Amino acid sequence: MTKCPTEDRQAVLSEVVALQEAGCEIIRVTVNTLEAAEVIPDIKKISRVPIVADIHFDHKLALAAVKNGIDKVRLNPGNIGSDEKISEVVKACKERSIPIRIGVNAGSLEKDIIKKHGGLQTAEGMVESALRHIDILEKNQFFDTIVAMKSSDPLMMIEAFRALASQCDYPFHLGVTEAGNSTQGLIKSAVGIGTLLAEGIGDTIRVSLTDTGIEEVRAGKEILRSLGLRREGVEYISCPTCGRLEGDLIPLLNRVKQATSHIKHPMKIAVMGCVVNGPGESKSADIGVCMSGNSAILYSGGQSLGLVEKEDLESRVLEEIGRFIDRKKDNQQKQPGG
Ligand code: SF4
Repeated sequence: MTKCPTEDRQAVLSEVVALQEAGCEIIRVTVNTLEAAEVIPDIKKISRVPIVADIHFDHKLALAAVKNGIDKVRLNPGNIGSDEKISEVVKACKERSIPIRIGVNAGSLEKDIIKKHGGLQTAEGMVESALRHIDILEKNQFFDTIVAMKSSDPLMMIEAFRALASQCDYPFHLGVTEAGNSTQGLIKSAVGIGTLLAEGIGDTIRVSLTDTGIEEVRAGKEILRSLGLRREGVEYISCPTCGRLEGDLIPLLNRVKQATSHIKHPMKIAVMGCVVNGPGESKSADIGVCMSGNSAILYSGGQSLGLVEKEDLESRVLEEIGRFIDRKKDNQQKQPGG
């Protein structure tokens, strides 16, 4: 999701470009004013991915977003007021085949639902709220719906999605909302989103961190890669280090990561601290390096390239990574249609 005011045209366009470059596959922008809705055509001009308008209560903003070419609308039909307003939005979305994403948030459940569940935010309450919004859309003969139910508690969102999955077939958008930042935010997101995806529940995801959108995208892609759902970019395999460590591993890993973070091609790079587990991991990676005494063993494509002096290690590793990518590109070009 972009984080700047959408009315700030230059800022939002820059964010959209940066998110796309980072590998974001769907971008949501805040549409809380008519001025924000007017920026949508410019965003669409530069965007290679679908753009979602985040609407809360104002149906006029949903209509403006649809008119300006948005790809998806995020709104809760129960929040926008009269039946006429709902049917106006539904009609506009239907005419242009625009899906609506319902977004239930544990922190803003309907008052009567909270009361019914003992004054608490609960998974049952989230499901009840989602079903209520779904019902409104279905009564308007609208079925192009995606459902999100977010909570800052990963267990609550897991429980809610598991329960809803047994009650409807709509696609689900997963996220742990207000997850925080840094280690806590990443782990809460990975536990909530990862658990459900591993069970086959969920169609799109959003990692919500108190951080830049780029960090959110990186985290989301890492969750997908860990589950084997995406492959692009570099997967780093590195040992945790221990008393057997035979070199300055952490600075080497950081420099290799910095020099290779732009790579989109799927590849594995192993950086290992000694010959206990080093050769095995290095051989199974595309490029591997294993510290050994005063030198290190360098591997490419599972084959040892021999010992390398430690002062030459970084440049040799980067050289081999470059060769690996060149070979892959050559192979792609040789393939029919490549
Ligand atoms: S590879 Fe070697 S240095 Fe690294 S954690 Fe394993 S035993 Fe320790």
